[in-house]
Amino acid sequence: MRNWEAGEVKIFDYKSETEVTVDRIVKPEEEYGKQLPADVFRIVREQGTETPFSGKYVDHRQKGIYRCVVCGTDLFLSDAKFESGTGWPSFSQPVSPLNILEESDMSGGMVRTEVRCARCGSHLGHVFDDGPKPTGMRYCMNSAALAFEGIP
Ligand SMILES: [Zn+2]
Repeated sequence: MRNWEAGEVKIFDYKSETEVTVDRIVKPEEEYGKQLPADVFRIVREQGTETPFSGKYVDHRQKGIYRCVVCGTDLFLSDAKFESGTGWPSFSQPVSPLNILEESDMSGGMVRTEVRCARCGSHLGHVFDDGPKPTGMRYCMNSAALAFEGIP
């Protein structure tokens, strides 16, 4: 994995509403290959992008939380989800800025900002500055990178 080494990271835990310090997850890619379905692996470990309108969370409107499919880190609340029309699940902000990493991504002949999980480094999607107010941000995620849990 690019730019990834062992160490501690502080993330926000939604259920306990506290910041917790955890170890970064560092594993050989072969292990992820065994752990994850091939289509998920291609996206989260090889910076893939799912086909628009193909993901299971594009039109998903239940109340709850979206976590990293690989390590379970809290990423986005349903309250921050909005209809972007792009074909990918879109959010106006993360649960906490602590829980994601934003890195410059020059791949594909474009300058974009990649979004990665702060705990395991997995690729989640990209963030753009054309989102709704008040944040103005559009976190454009791959459904395959997320695991949803409903909150009553
Ligand atoms: Zn993760």
